[in-house]
Formats: sequence, structure tokens, C-alpha cells
Amino acid sequence: MLCLEVTINGEHRVLAGVAMAETLNVSVTAHPGFNQAWIKVDGEIAPEGQPTADAHWLTSSASVGDIVQIRLIESDNPTTPSLGRIDLEAKPVPTDGIPFVCGFCGKEPKDVEGMLAGRKAMICRGCLRELHAIDCEDGATVERSGDSVADKD
Ligand SMILES: [Zn+2]
Repeated sequence: MLCLEVTINGEHRVLAGVAMAETLNVSVTAHPGFNQAWIKVDGEIAPEGQPTADAHWLTSSASVGDIVQIRLIESDNPTTPSLGRIDLEAKPVPTDGIPFVCGFCGKEPKDVEGMLAGRKAMICRGCLRELHAIDCEDGATVERSGDSVADKD
């Protein structure tokens, strides 16, 4: 995989790389007001089906005259980063907060044969059946209690 090798004053410090890396970054930030400088090696990984996480390899102070070398190399054995903000147990979105009635006809669970919960609404079996029927008619005129929905032109 593509890695970033960071050498400071000729001394190998880190070989930044990780599977599922989205970005790898080496930065040198100087704070002239504080007479300080920092070398930071980090990146972002995007595990499948999970939120992105910060990967961190190195934060090192730097002084006047320091030489920072960054080499782009291919390696299968990079330094393991420490990770932040990773959610290993991605939880399903709770459905508790949604109104416990059919979002289409407004019926309550006790009045219908069964309900399906989506992320933001529920739907009863009867409405599902109606939607299914409409879908199967494939563009045909939909009529309900005398109201014609189609043929508006
Ligand atoms: Zn319904």
C-alpha cells in the first residue's frame, strides 16, 4: 500500500500507512509567536460501513534547523496508528422516536394487521398492499371512491 515515510534529521521516525486509509498527511506547523514548531503525521481511514476515523502516528516538536524528509513509498508493513473516533459497534438508527401510527392512513397498530417501521415513519400492511397494487398497475388509472387521479391533461 501507499505509505509516507517520515525522517527527521536523518532519523527514521514513522512509516505512516494503514489499510482503508482515505488520506495520509504530514504537516509542519510553525508558531512564530511561541517560537515553536510541530511535526504531525496523521490521516483518515474509512472502514466499510462505519464512520470515518482519525488515524494518528506522530506529533513531535521541531526546532530551528530541523530537516523533515517525507518519502512516498510502497510498503506492506507500516507503523500501526492510534485511532480516534471509531465506532466499532455501529448501531442501527432507533425507531423509538417516530409516531406509532401509519404515516399514510394514520391508523394505529391495534387497528391494522401489522406495521413496518422505517427510519422516520411507519406504514401499515393495508397501505403497503395499496402501494404494491399501484406499483403493479404500472401507470394505469388509479381510482378510489370515485376520484380519478390520472388523466389530468
Ligand atoms: Zn396505513
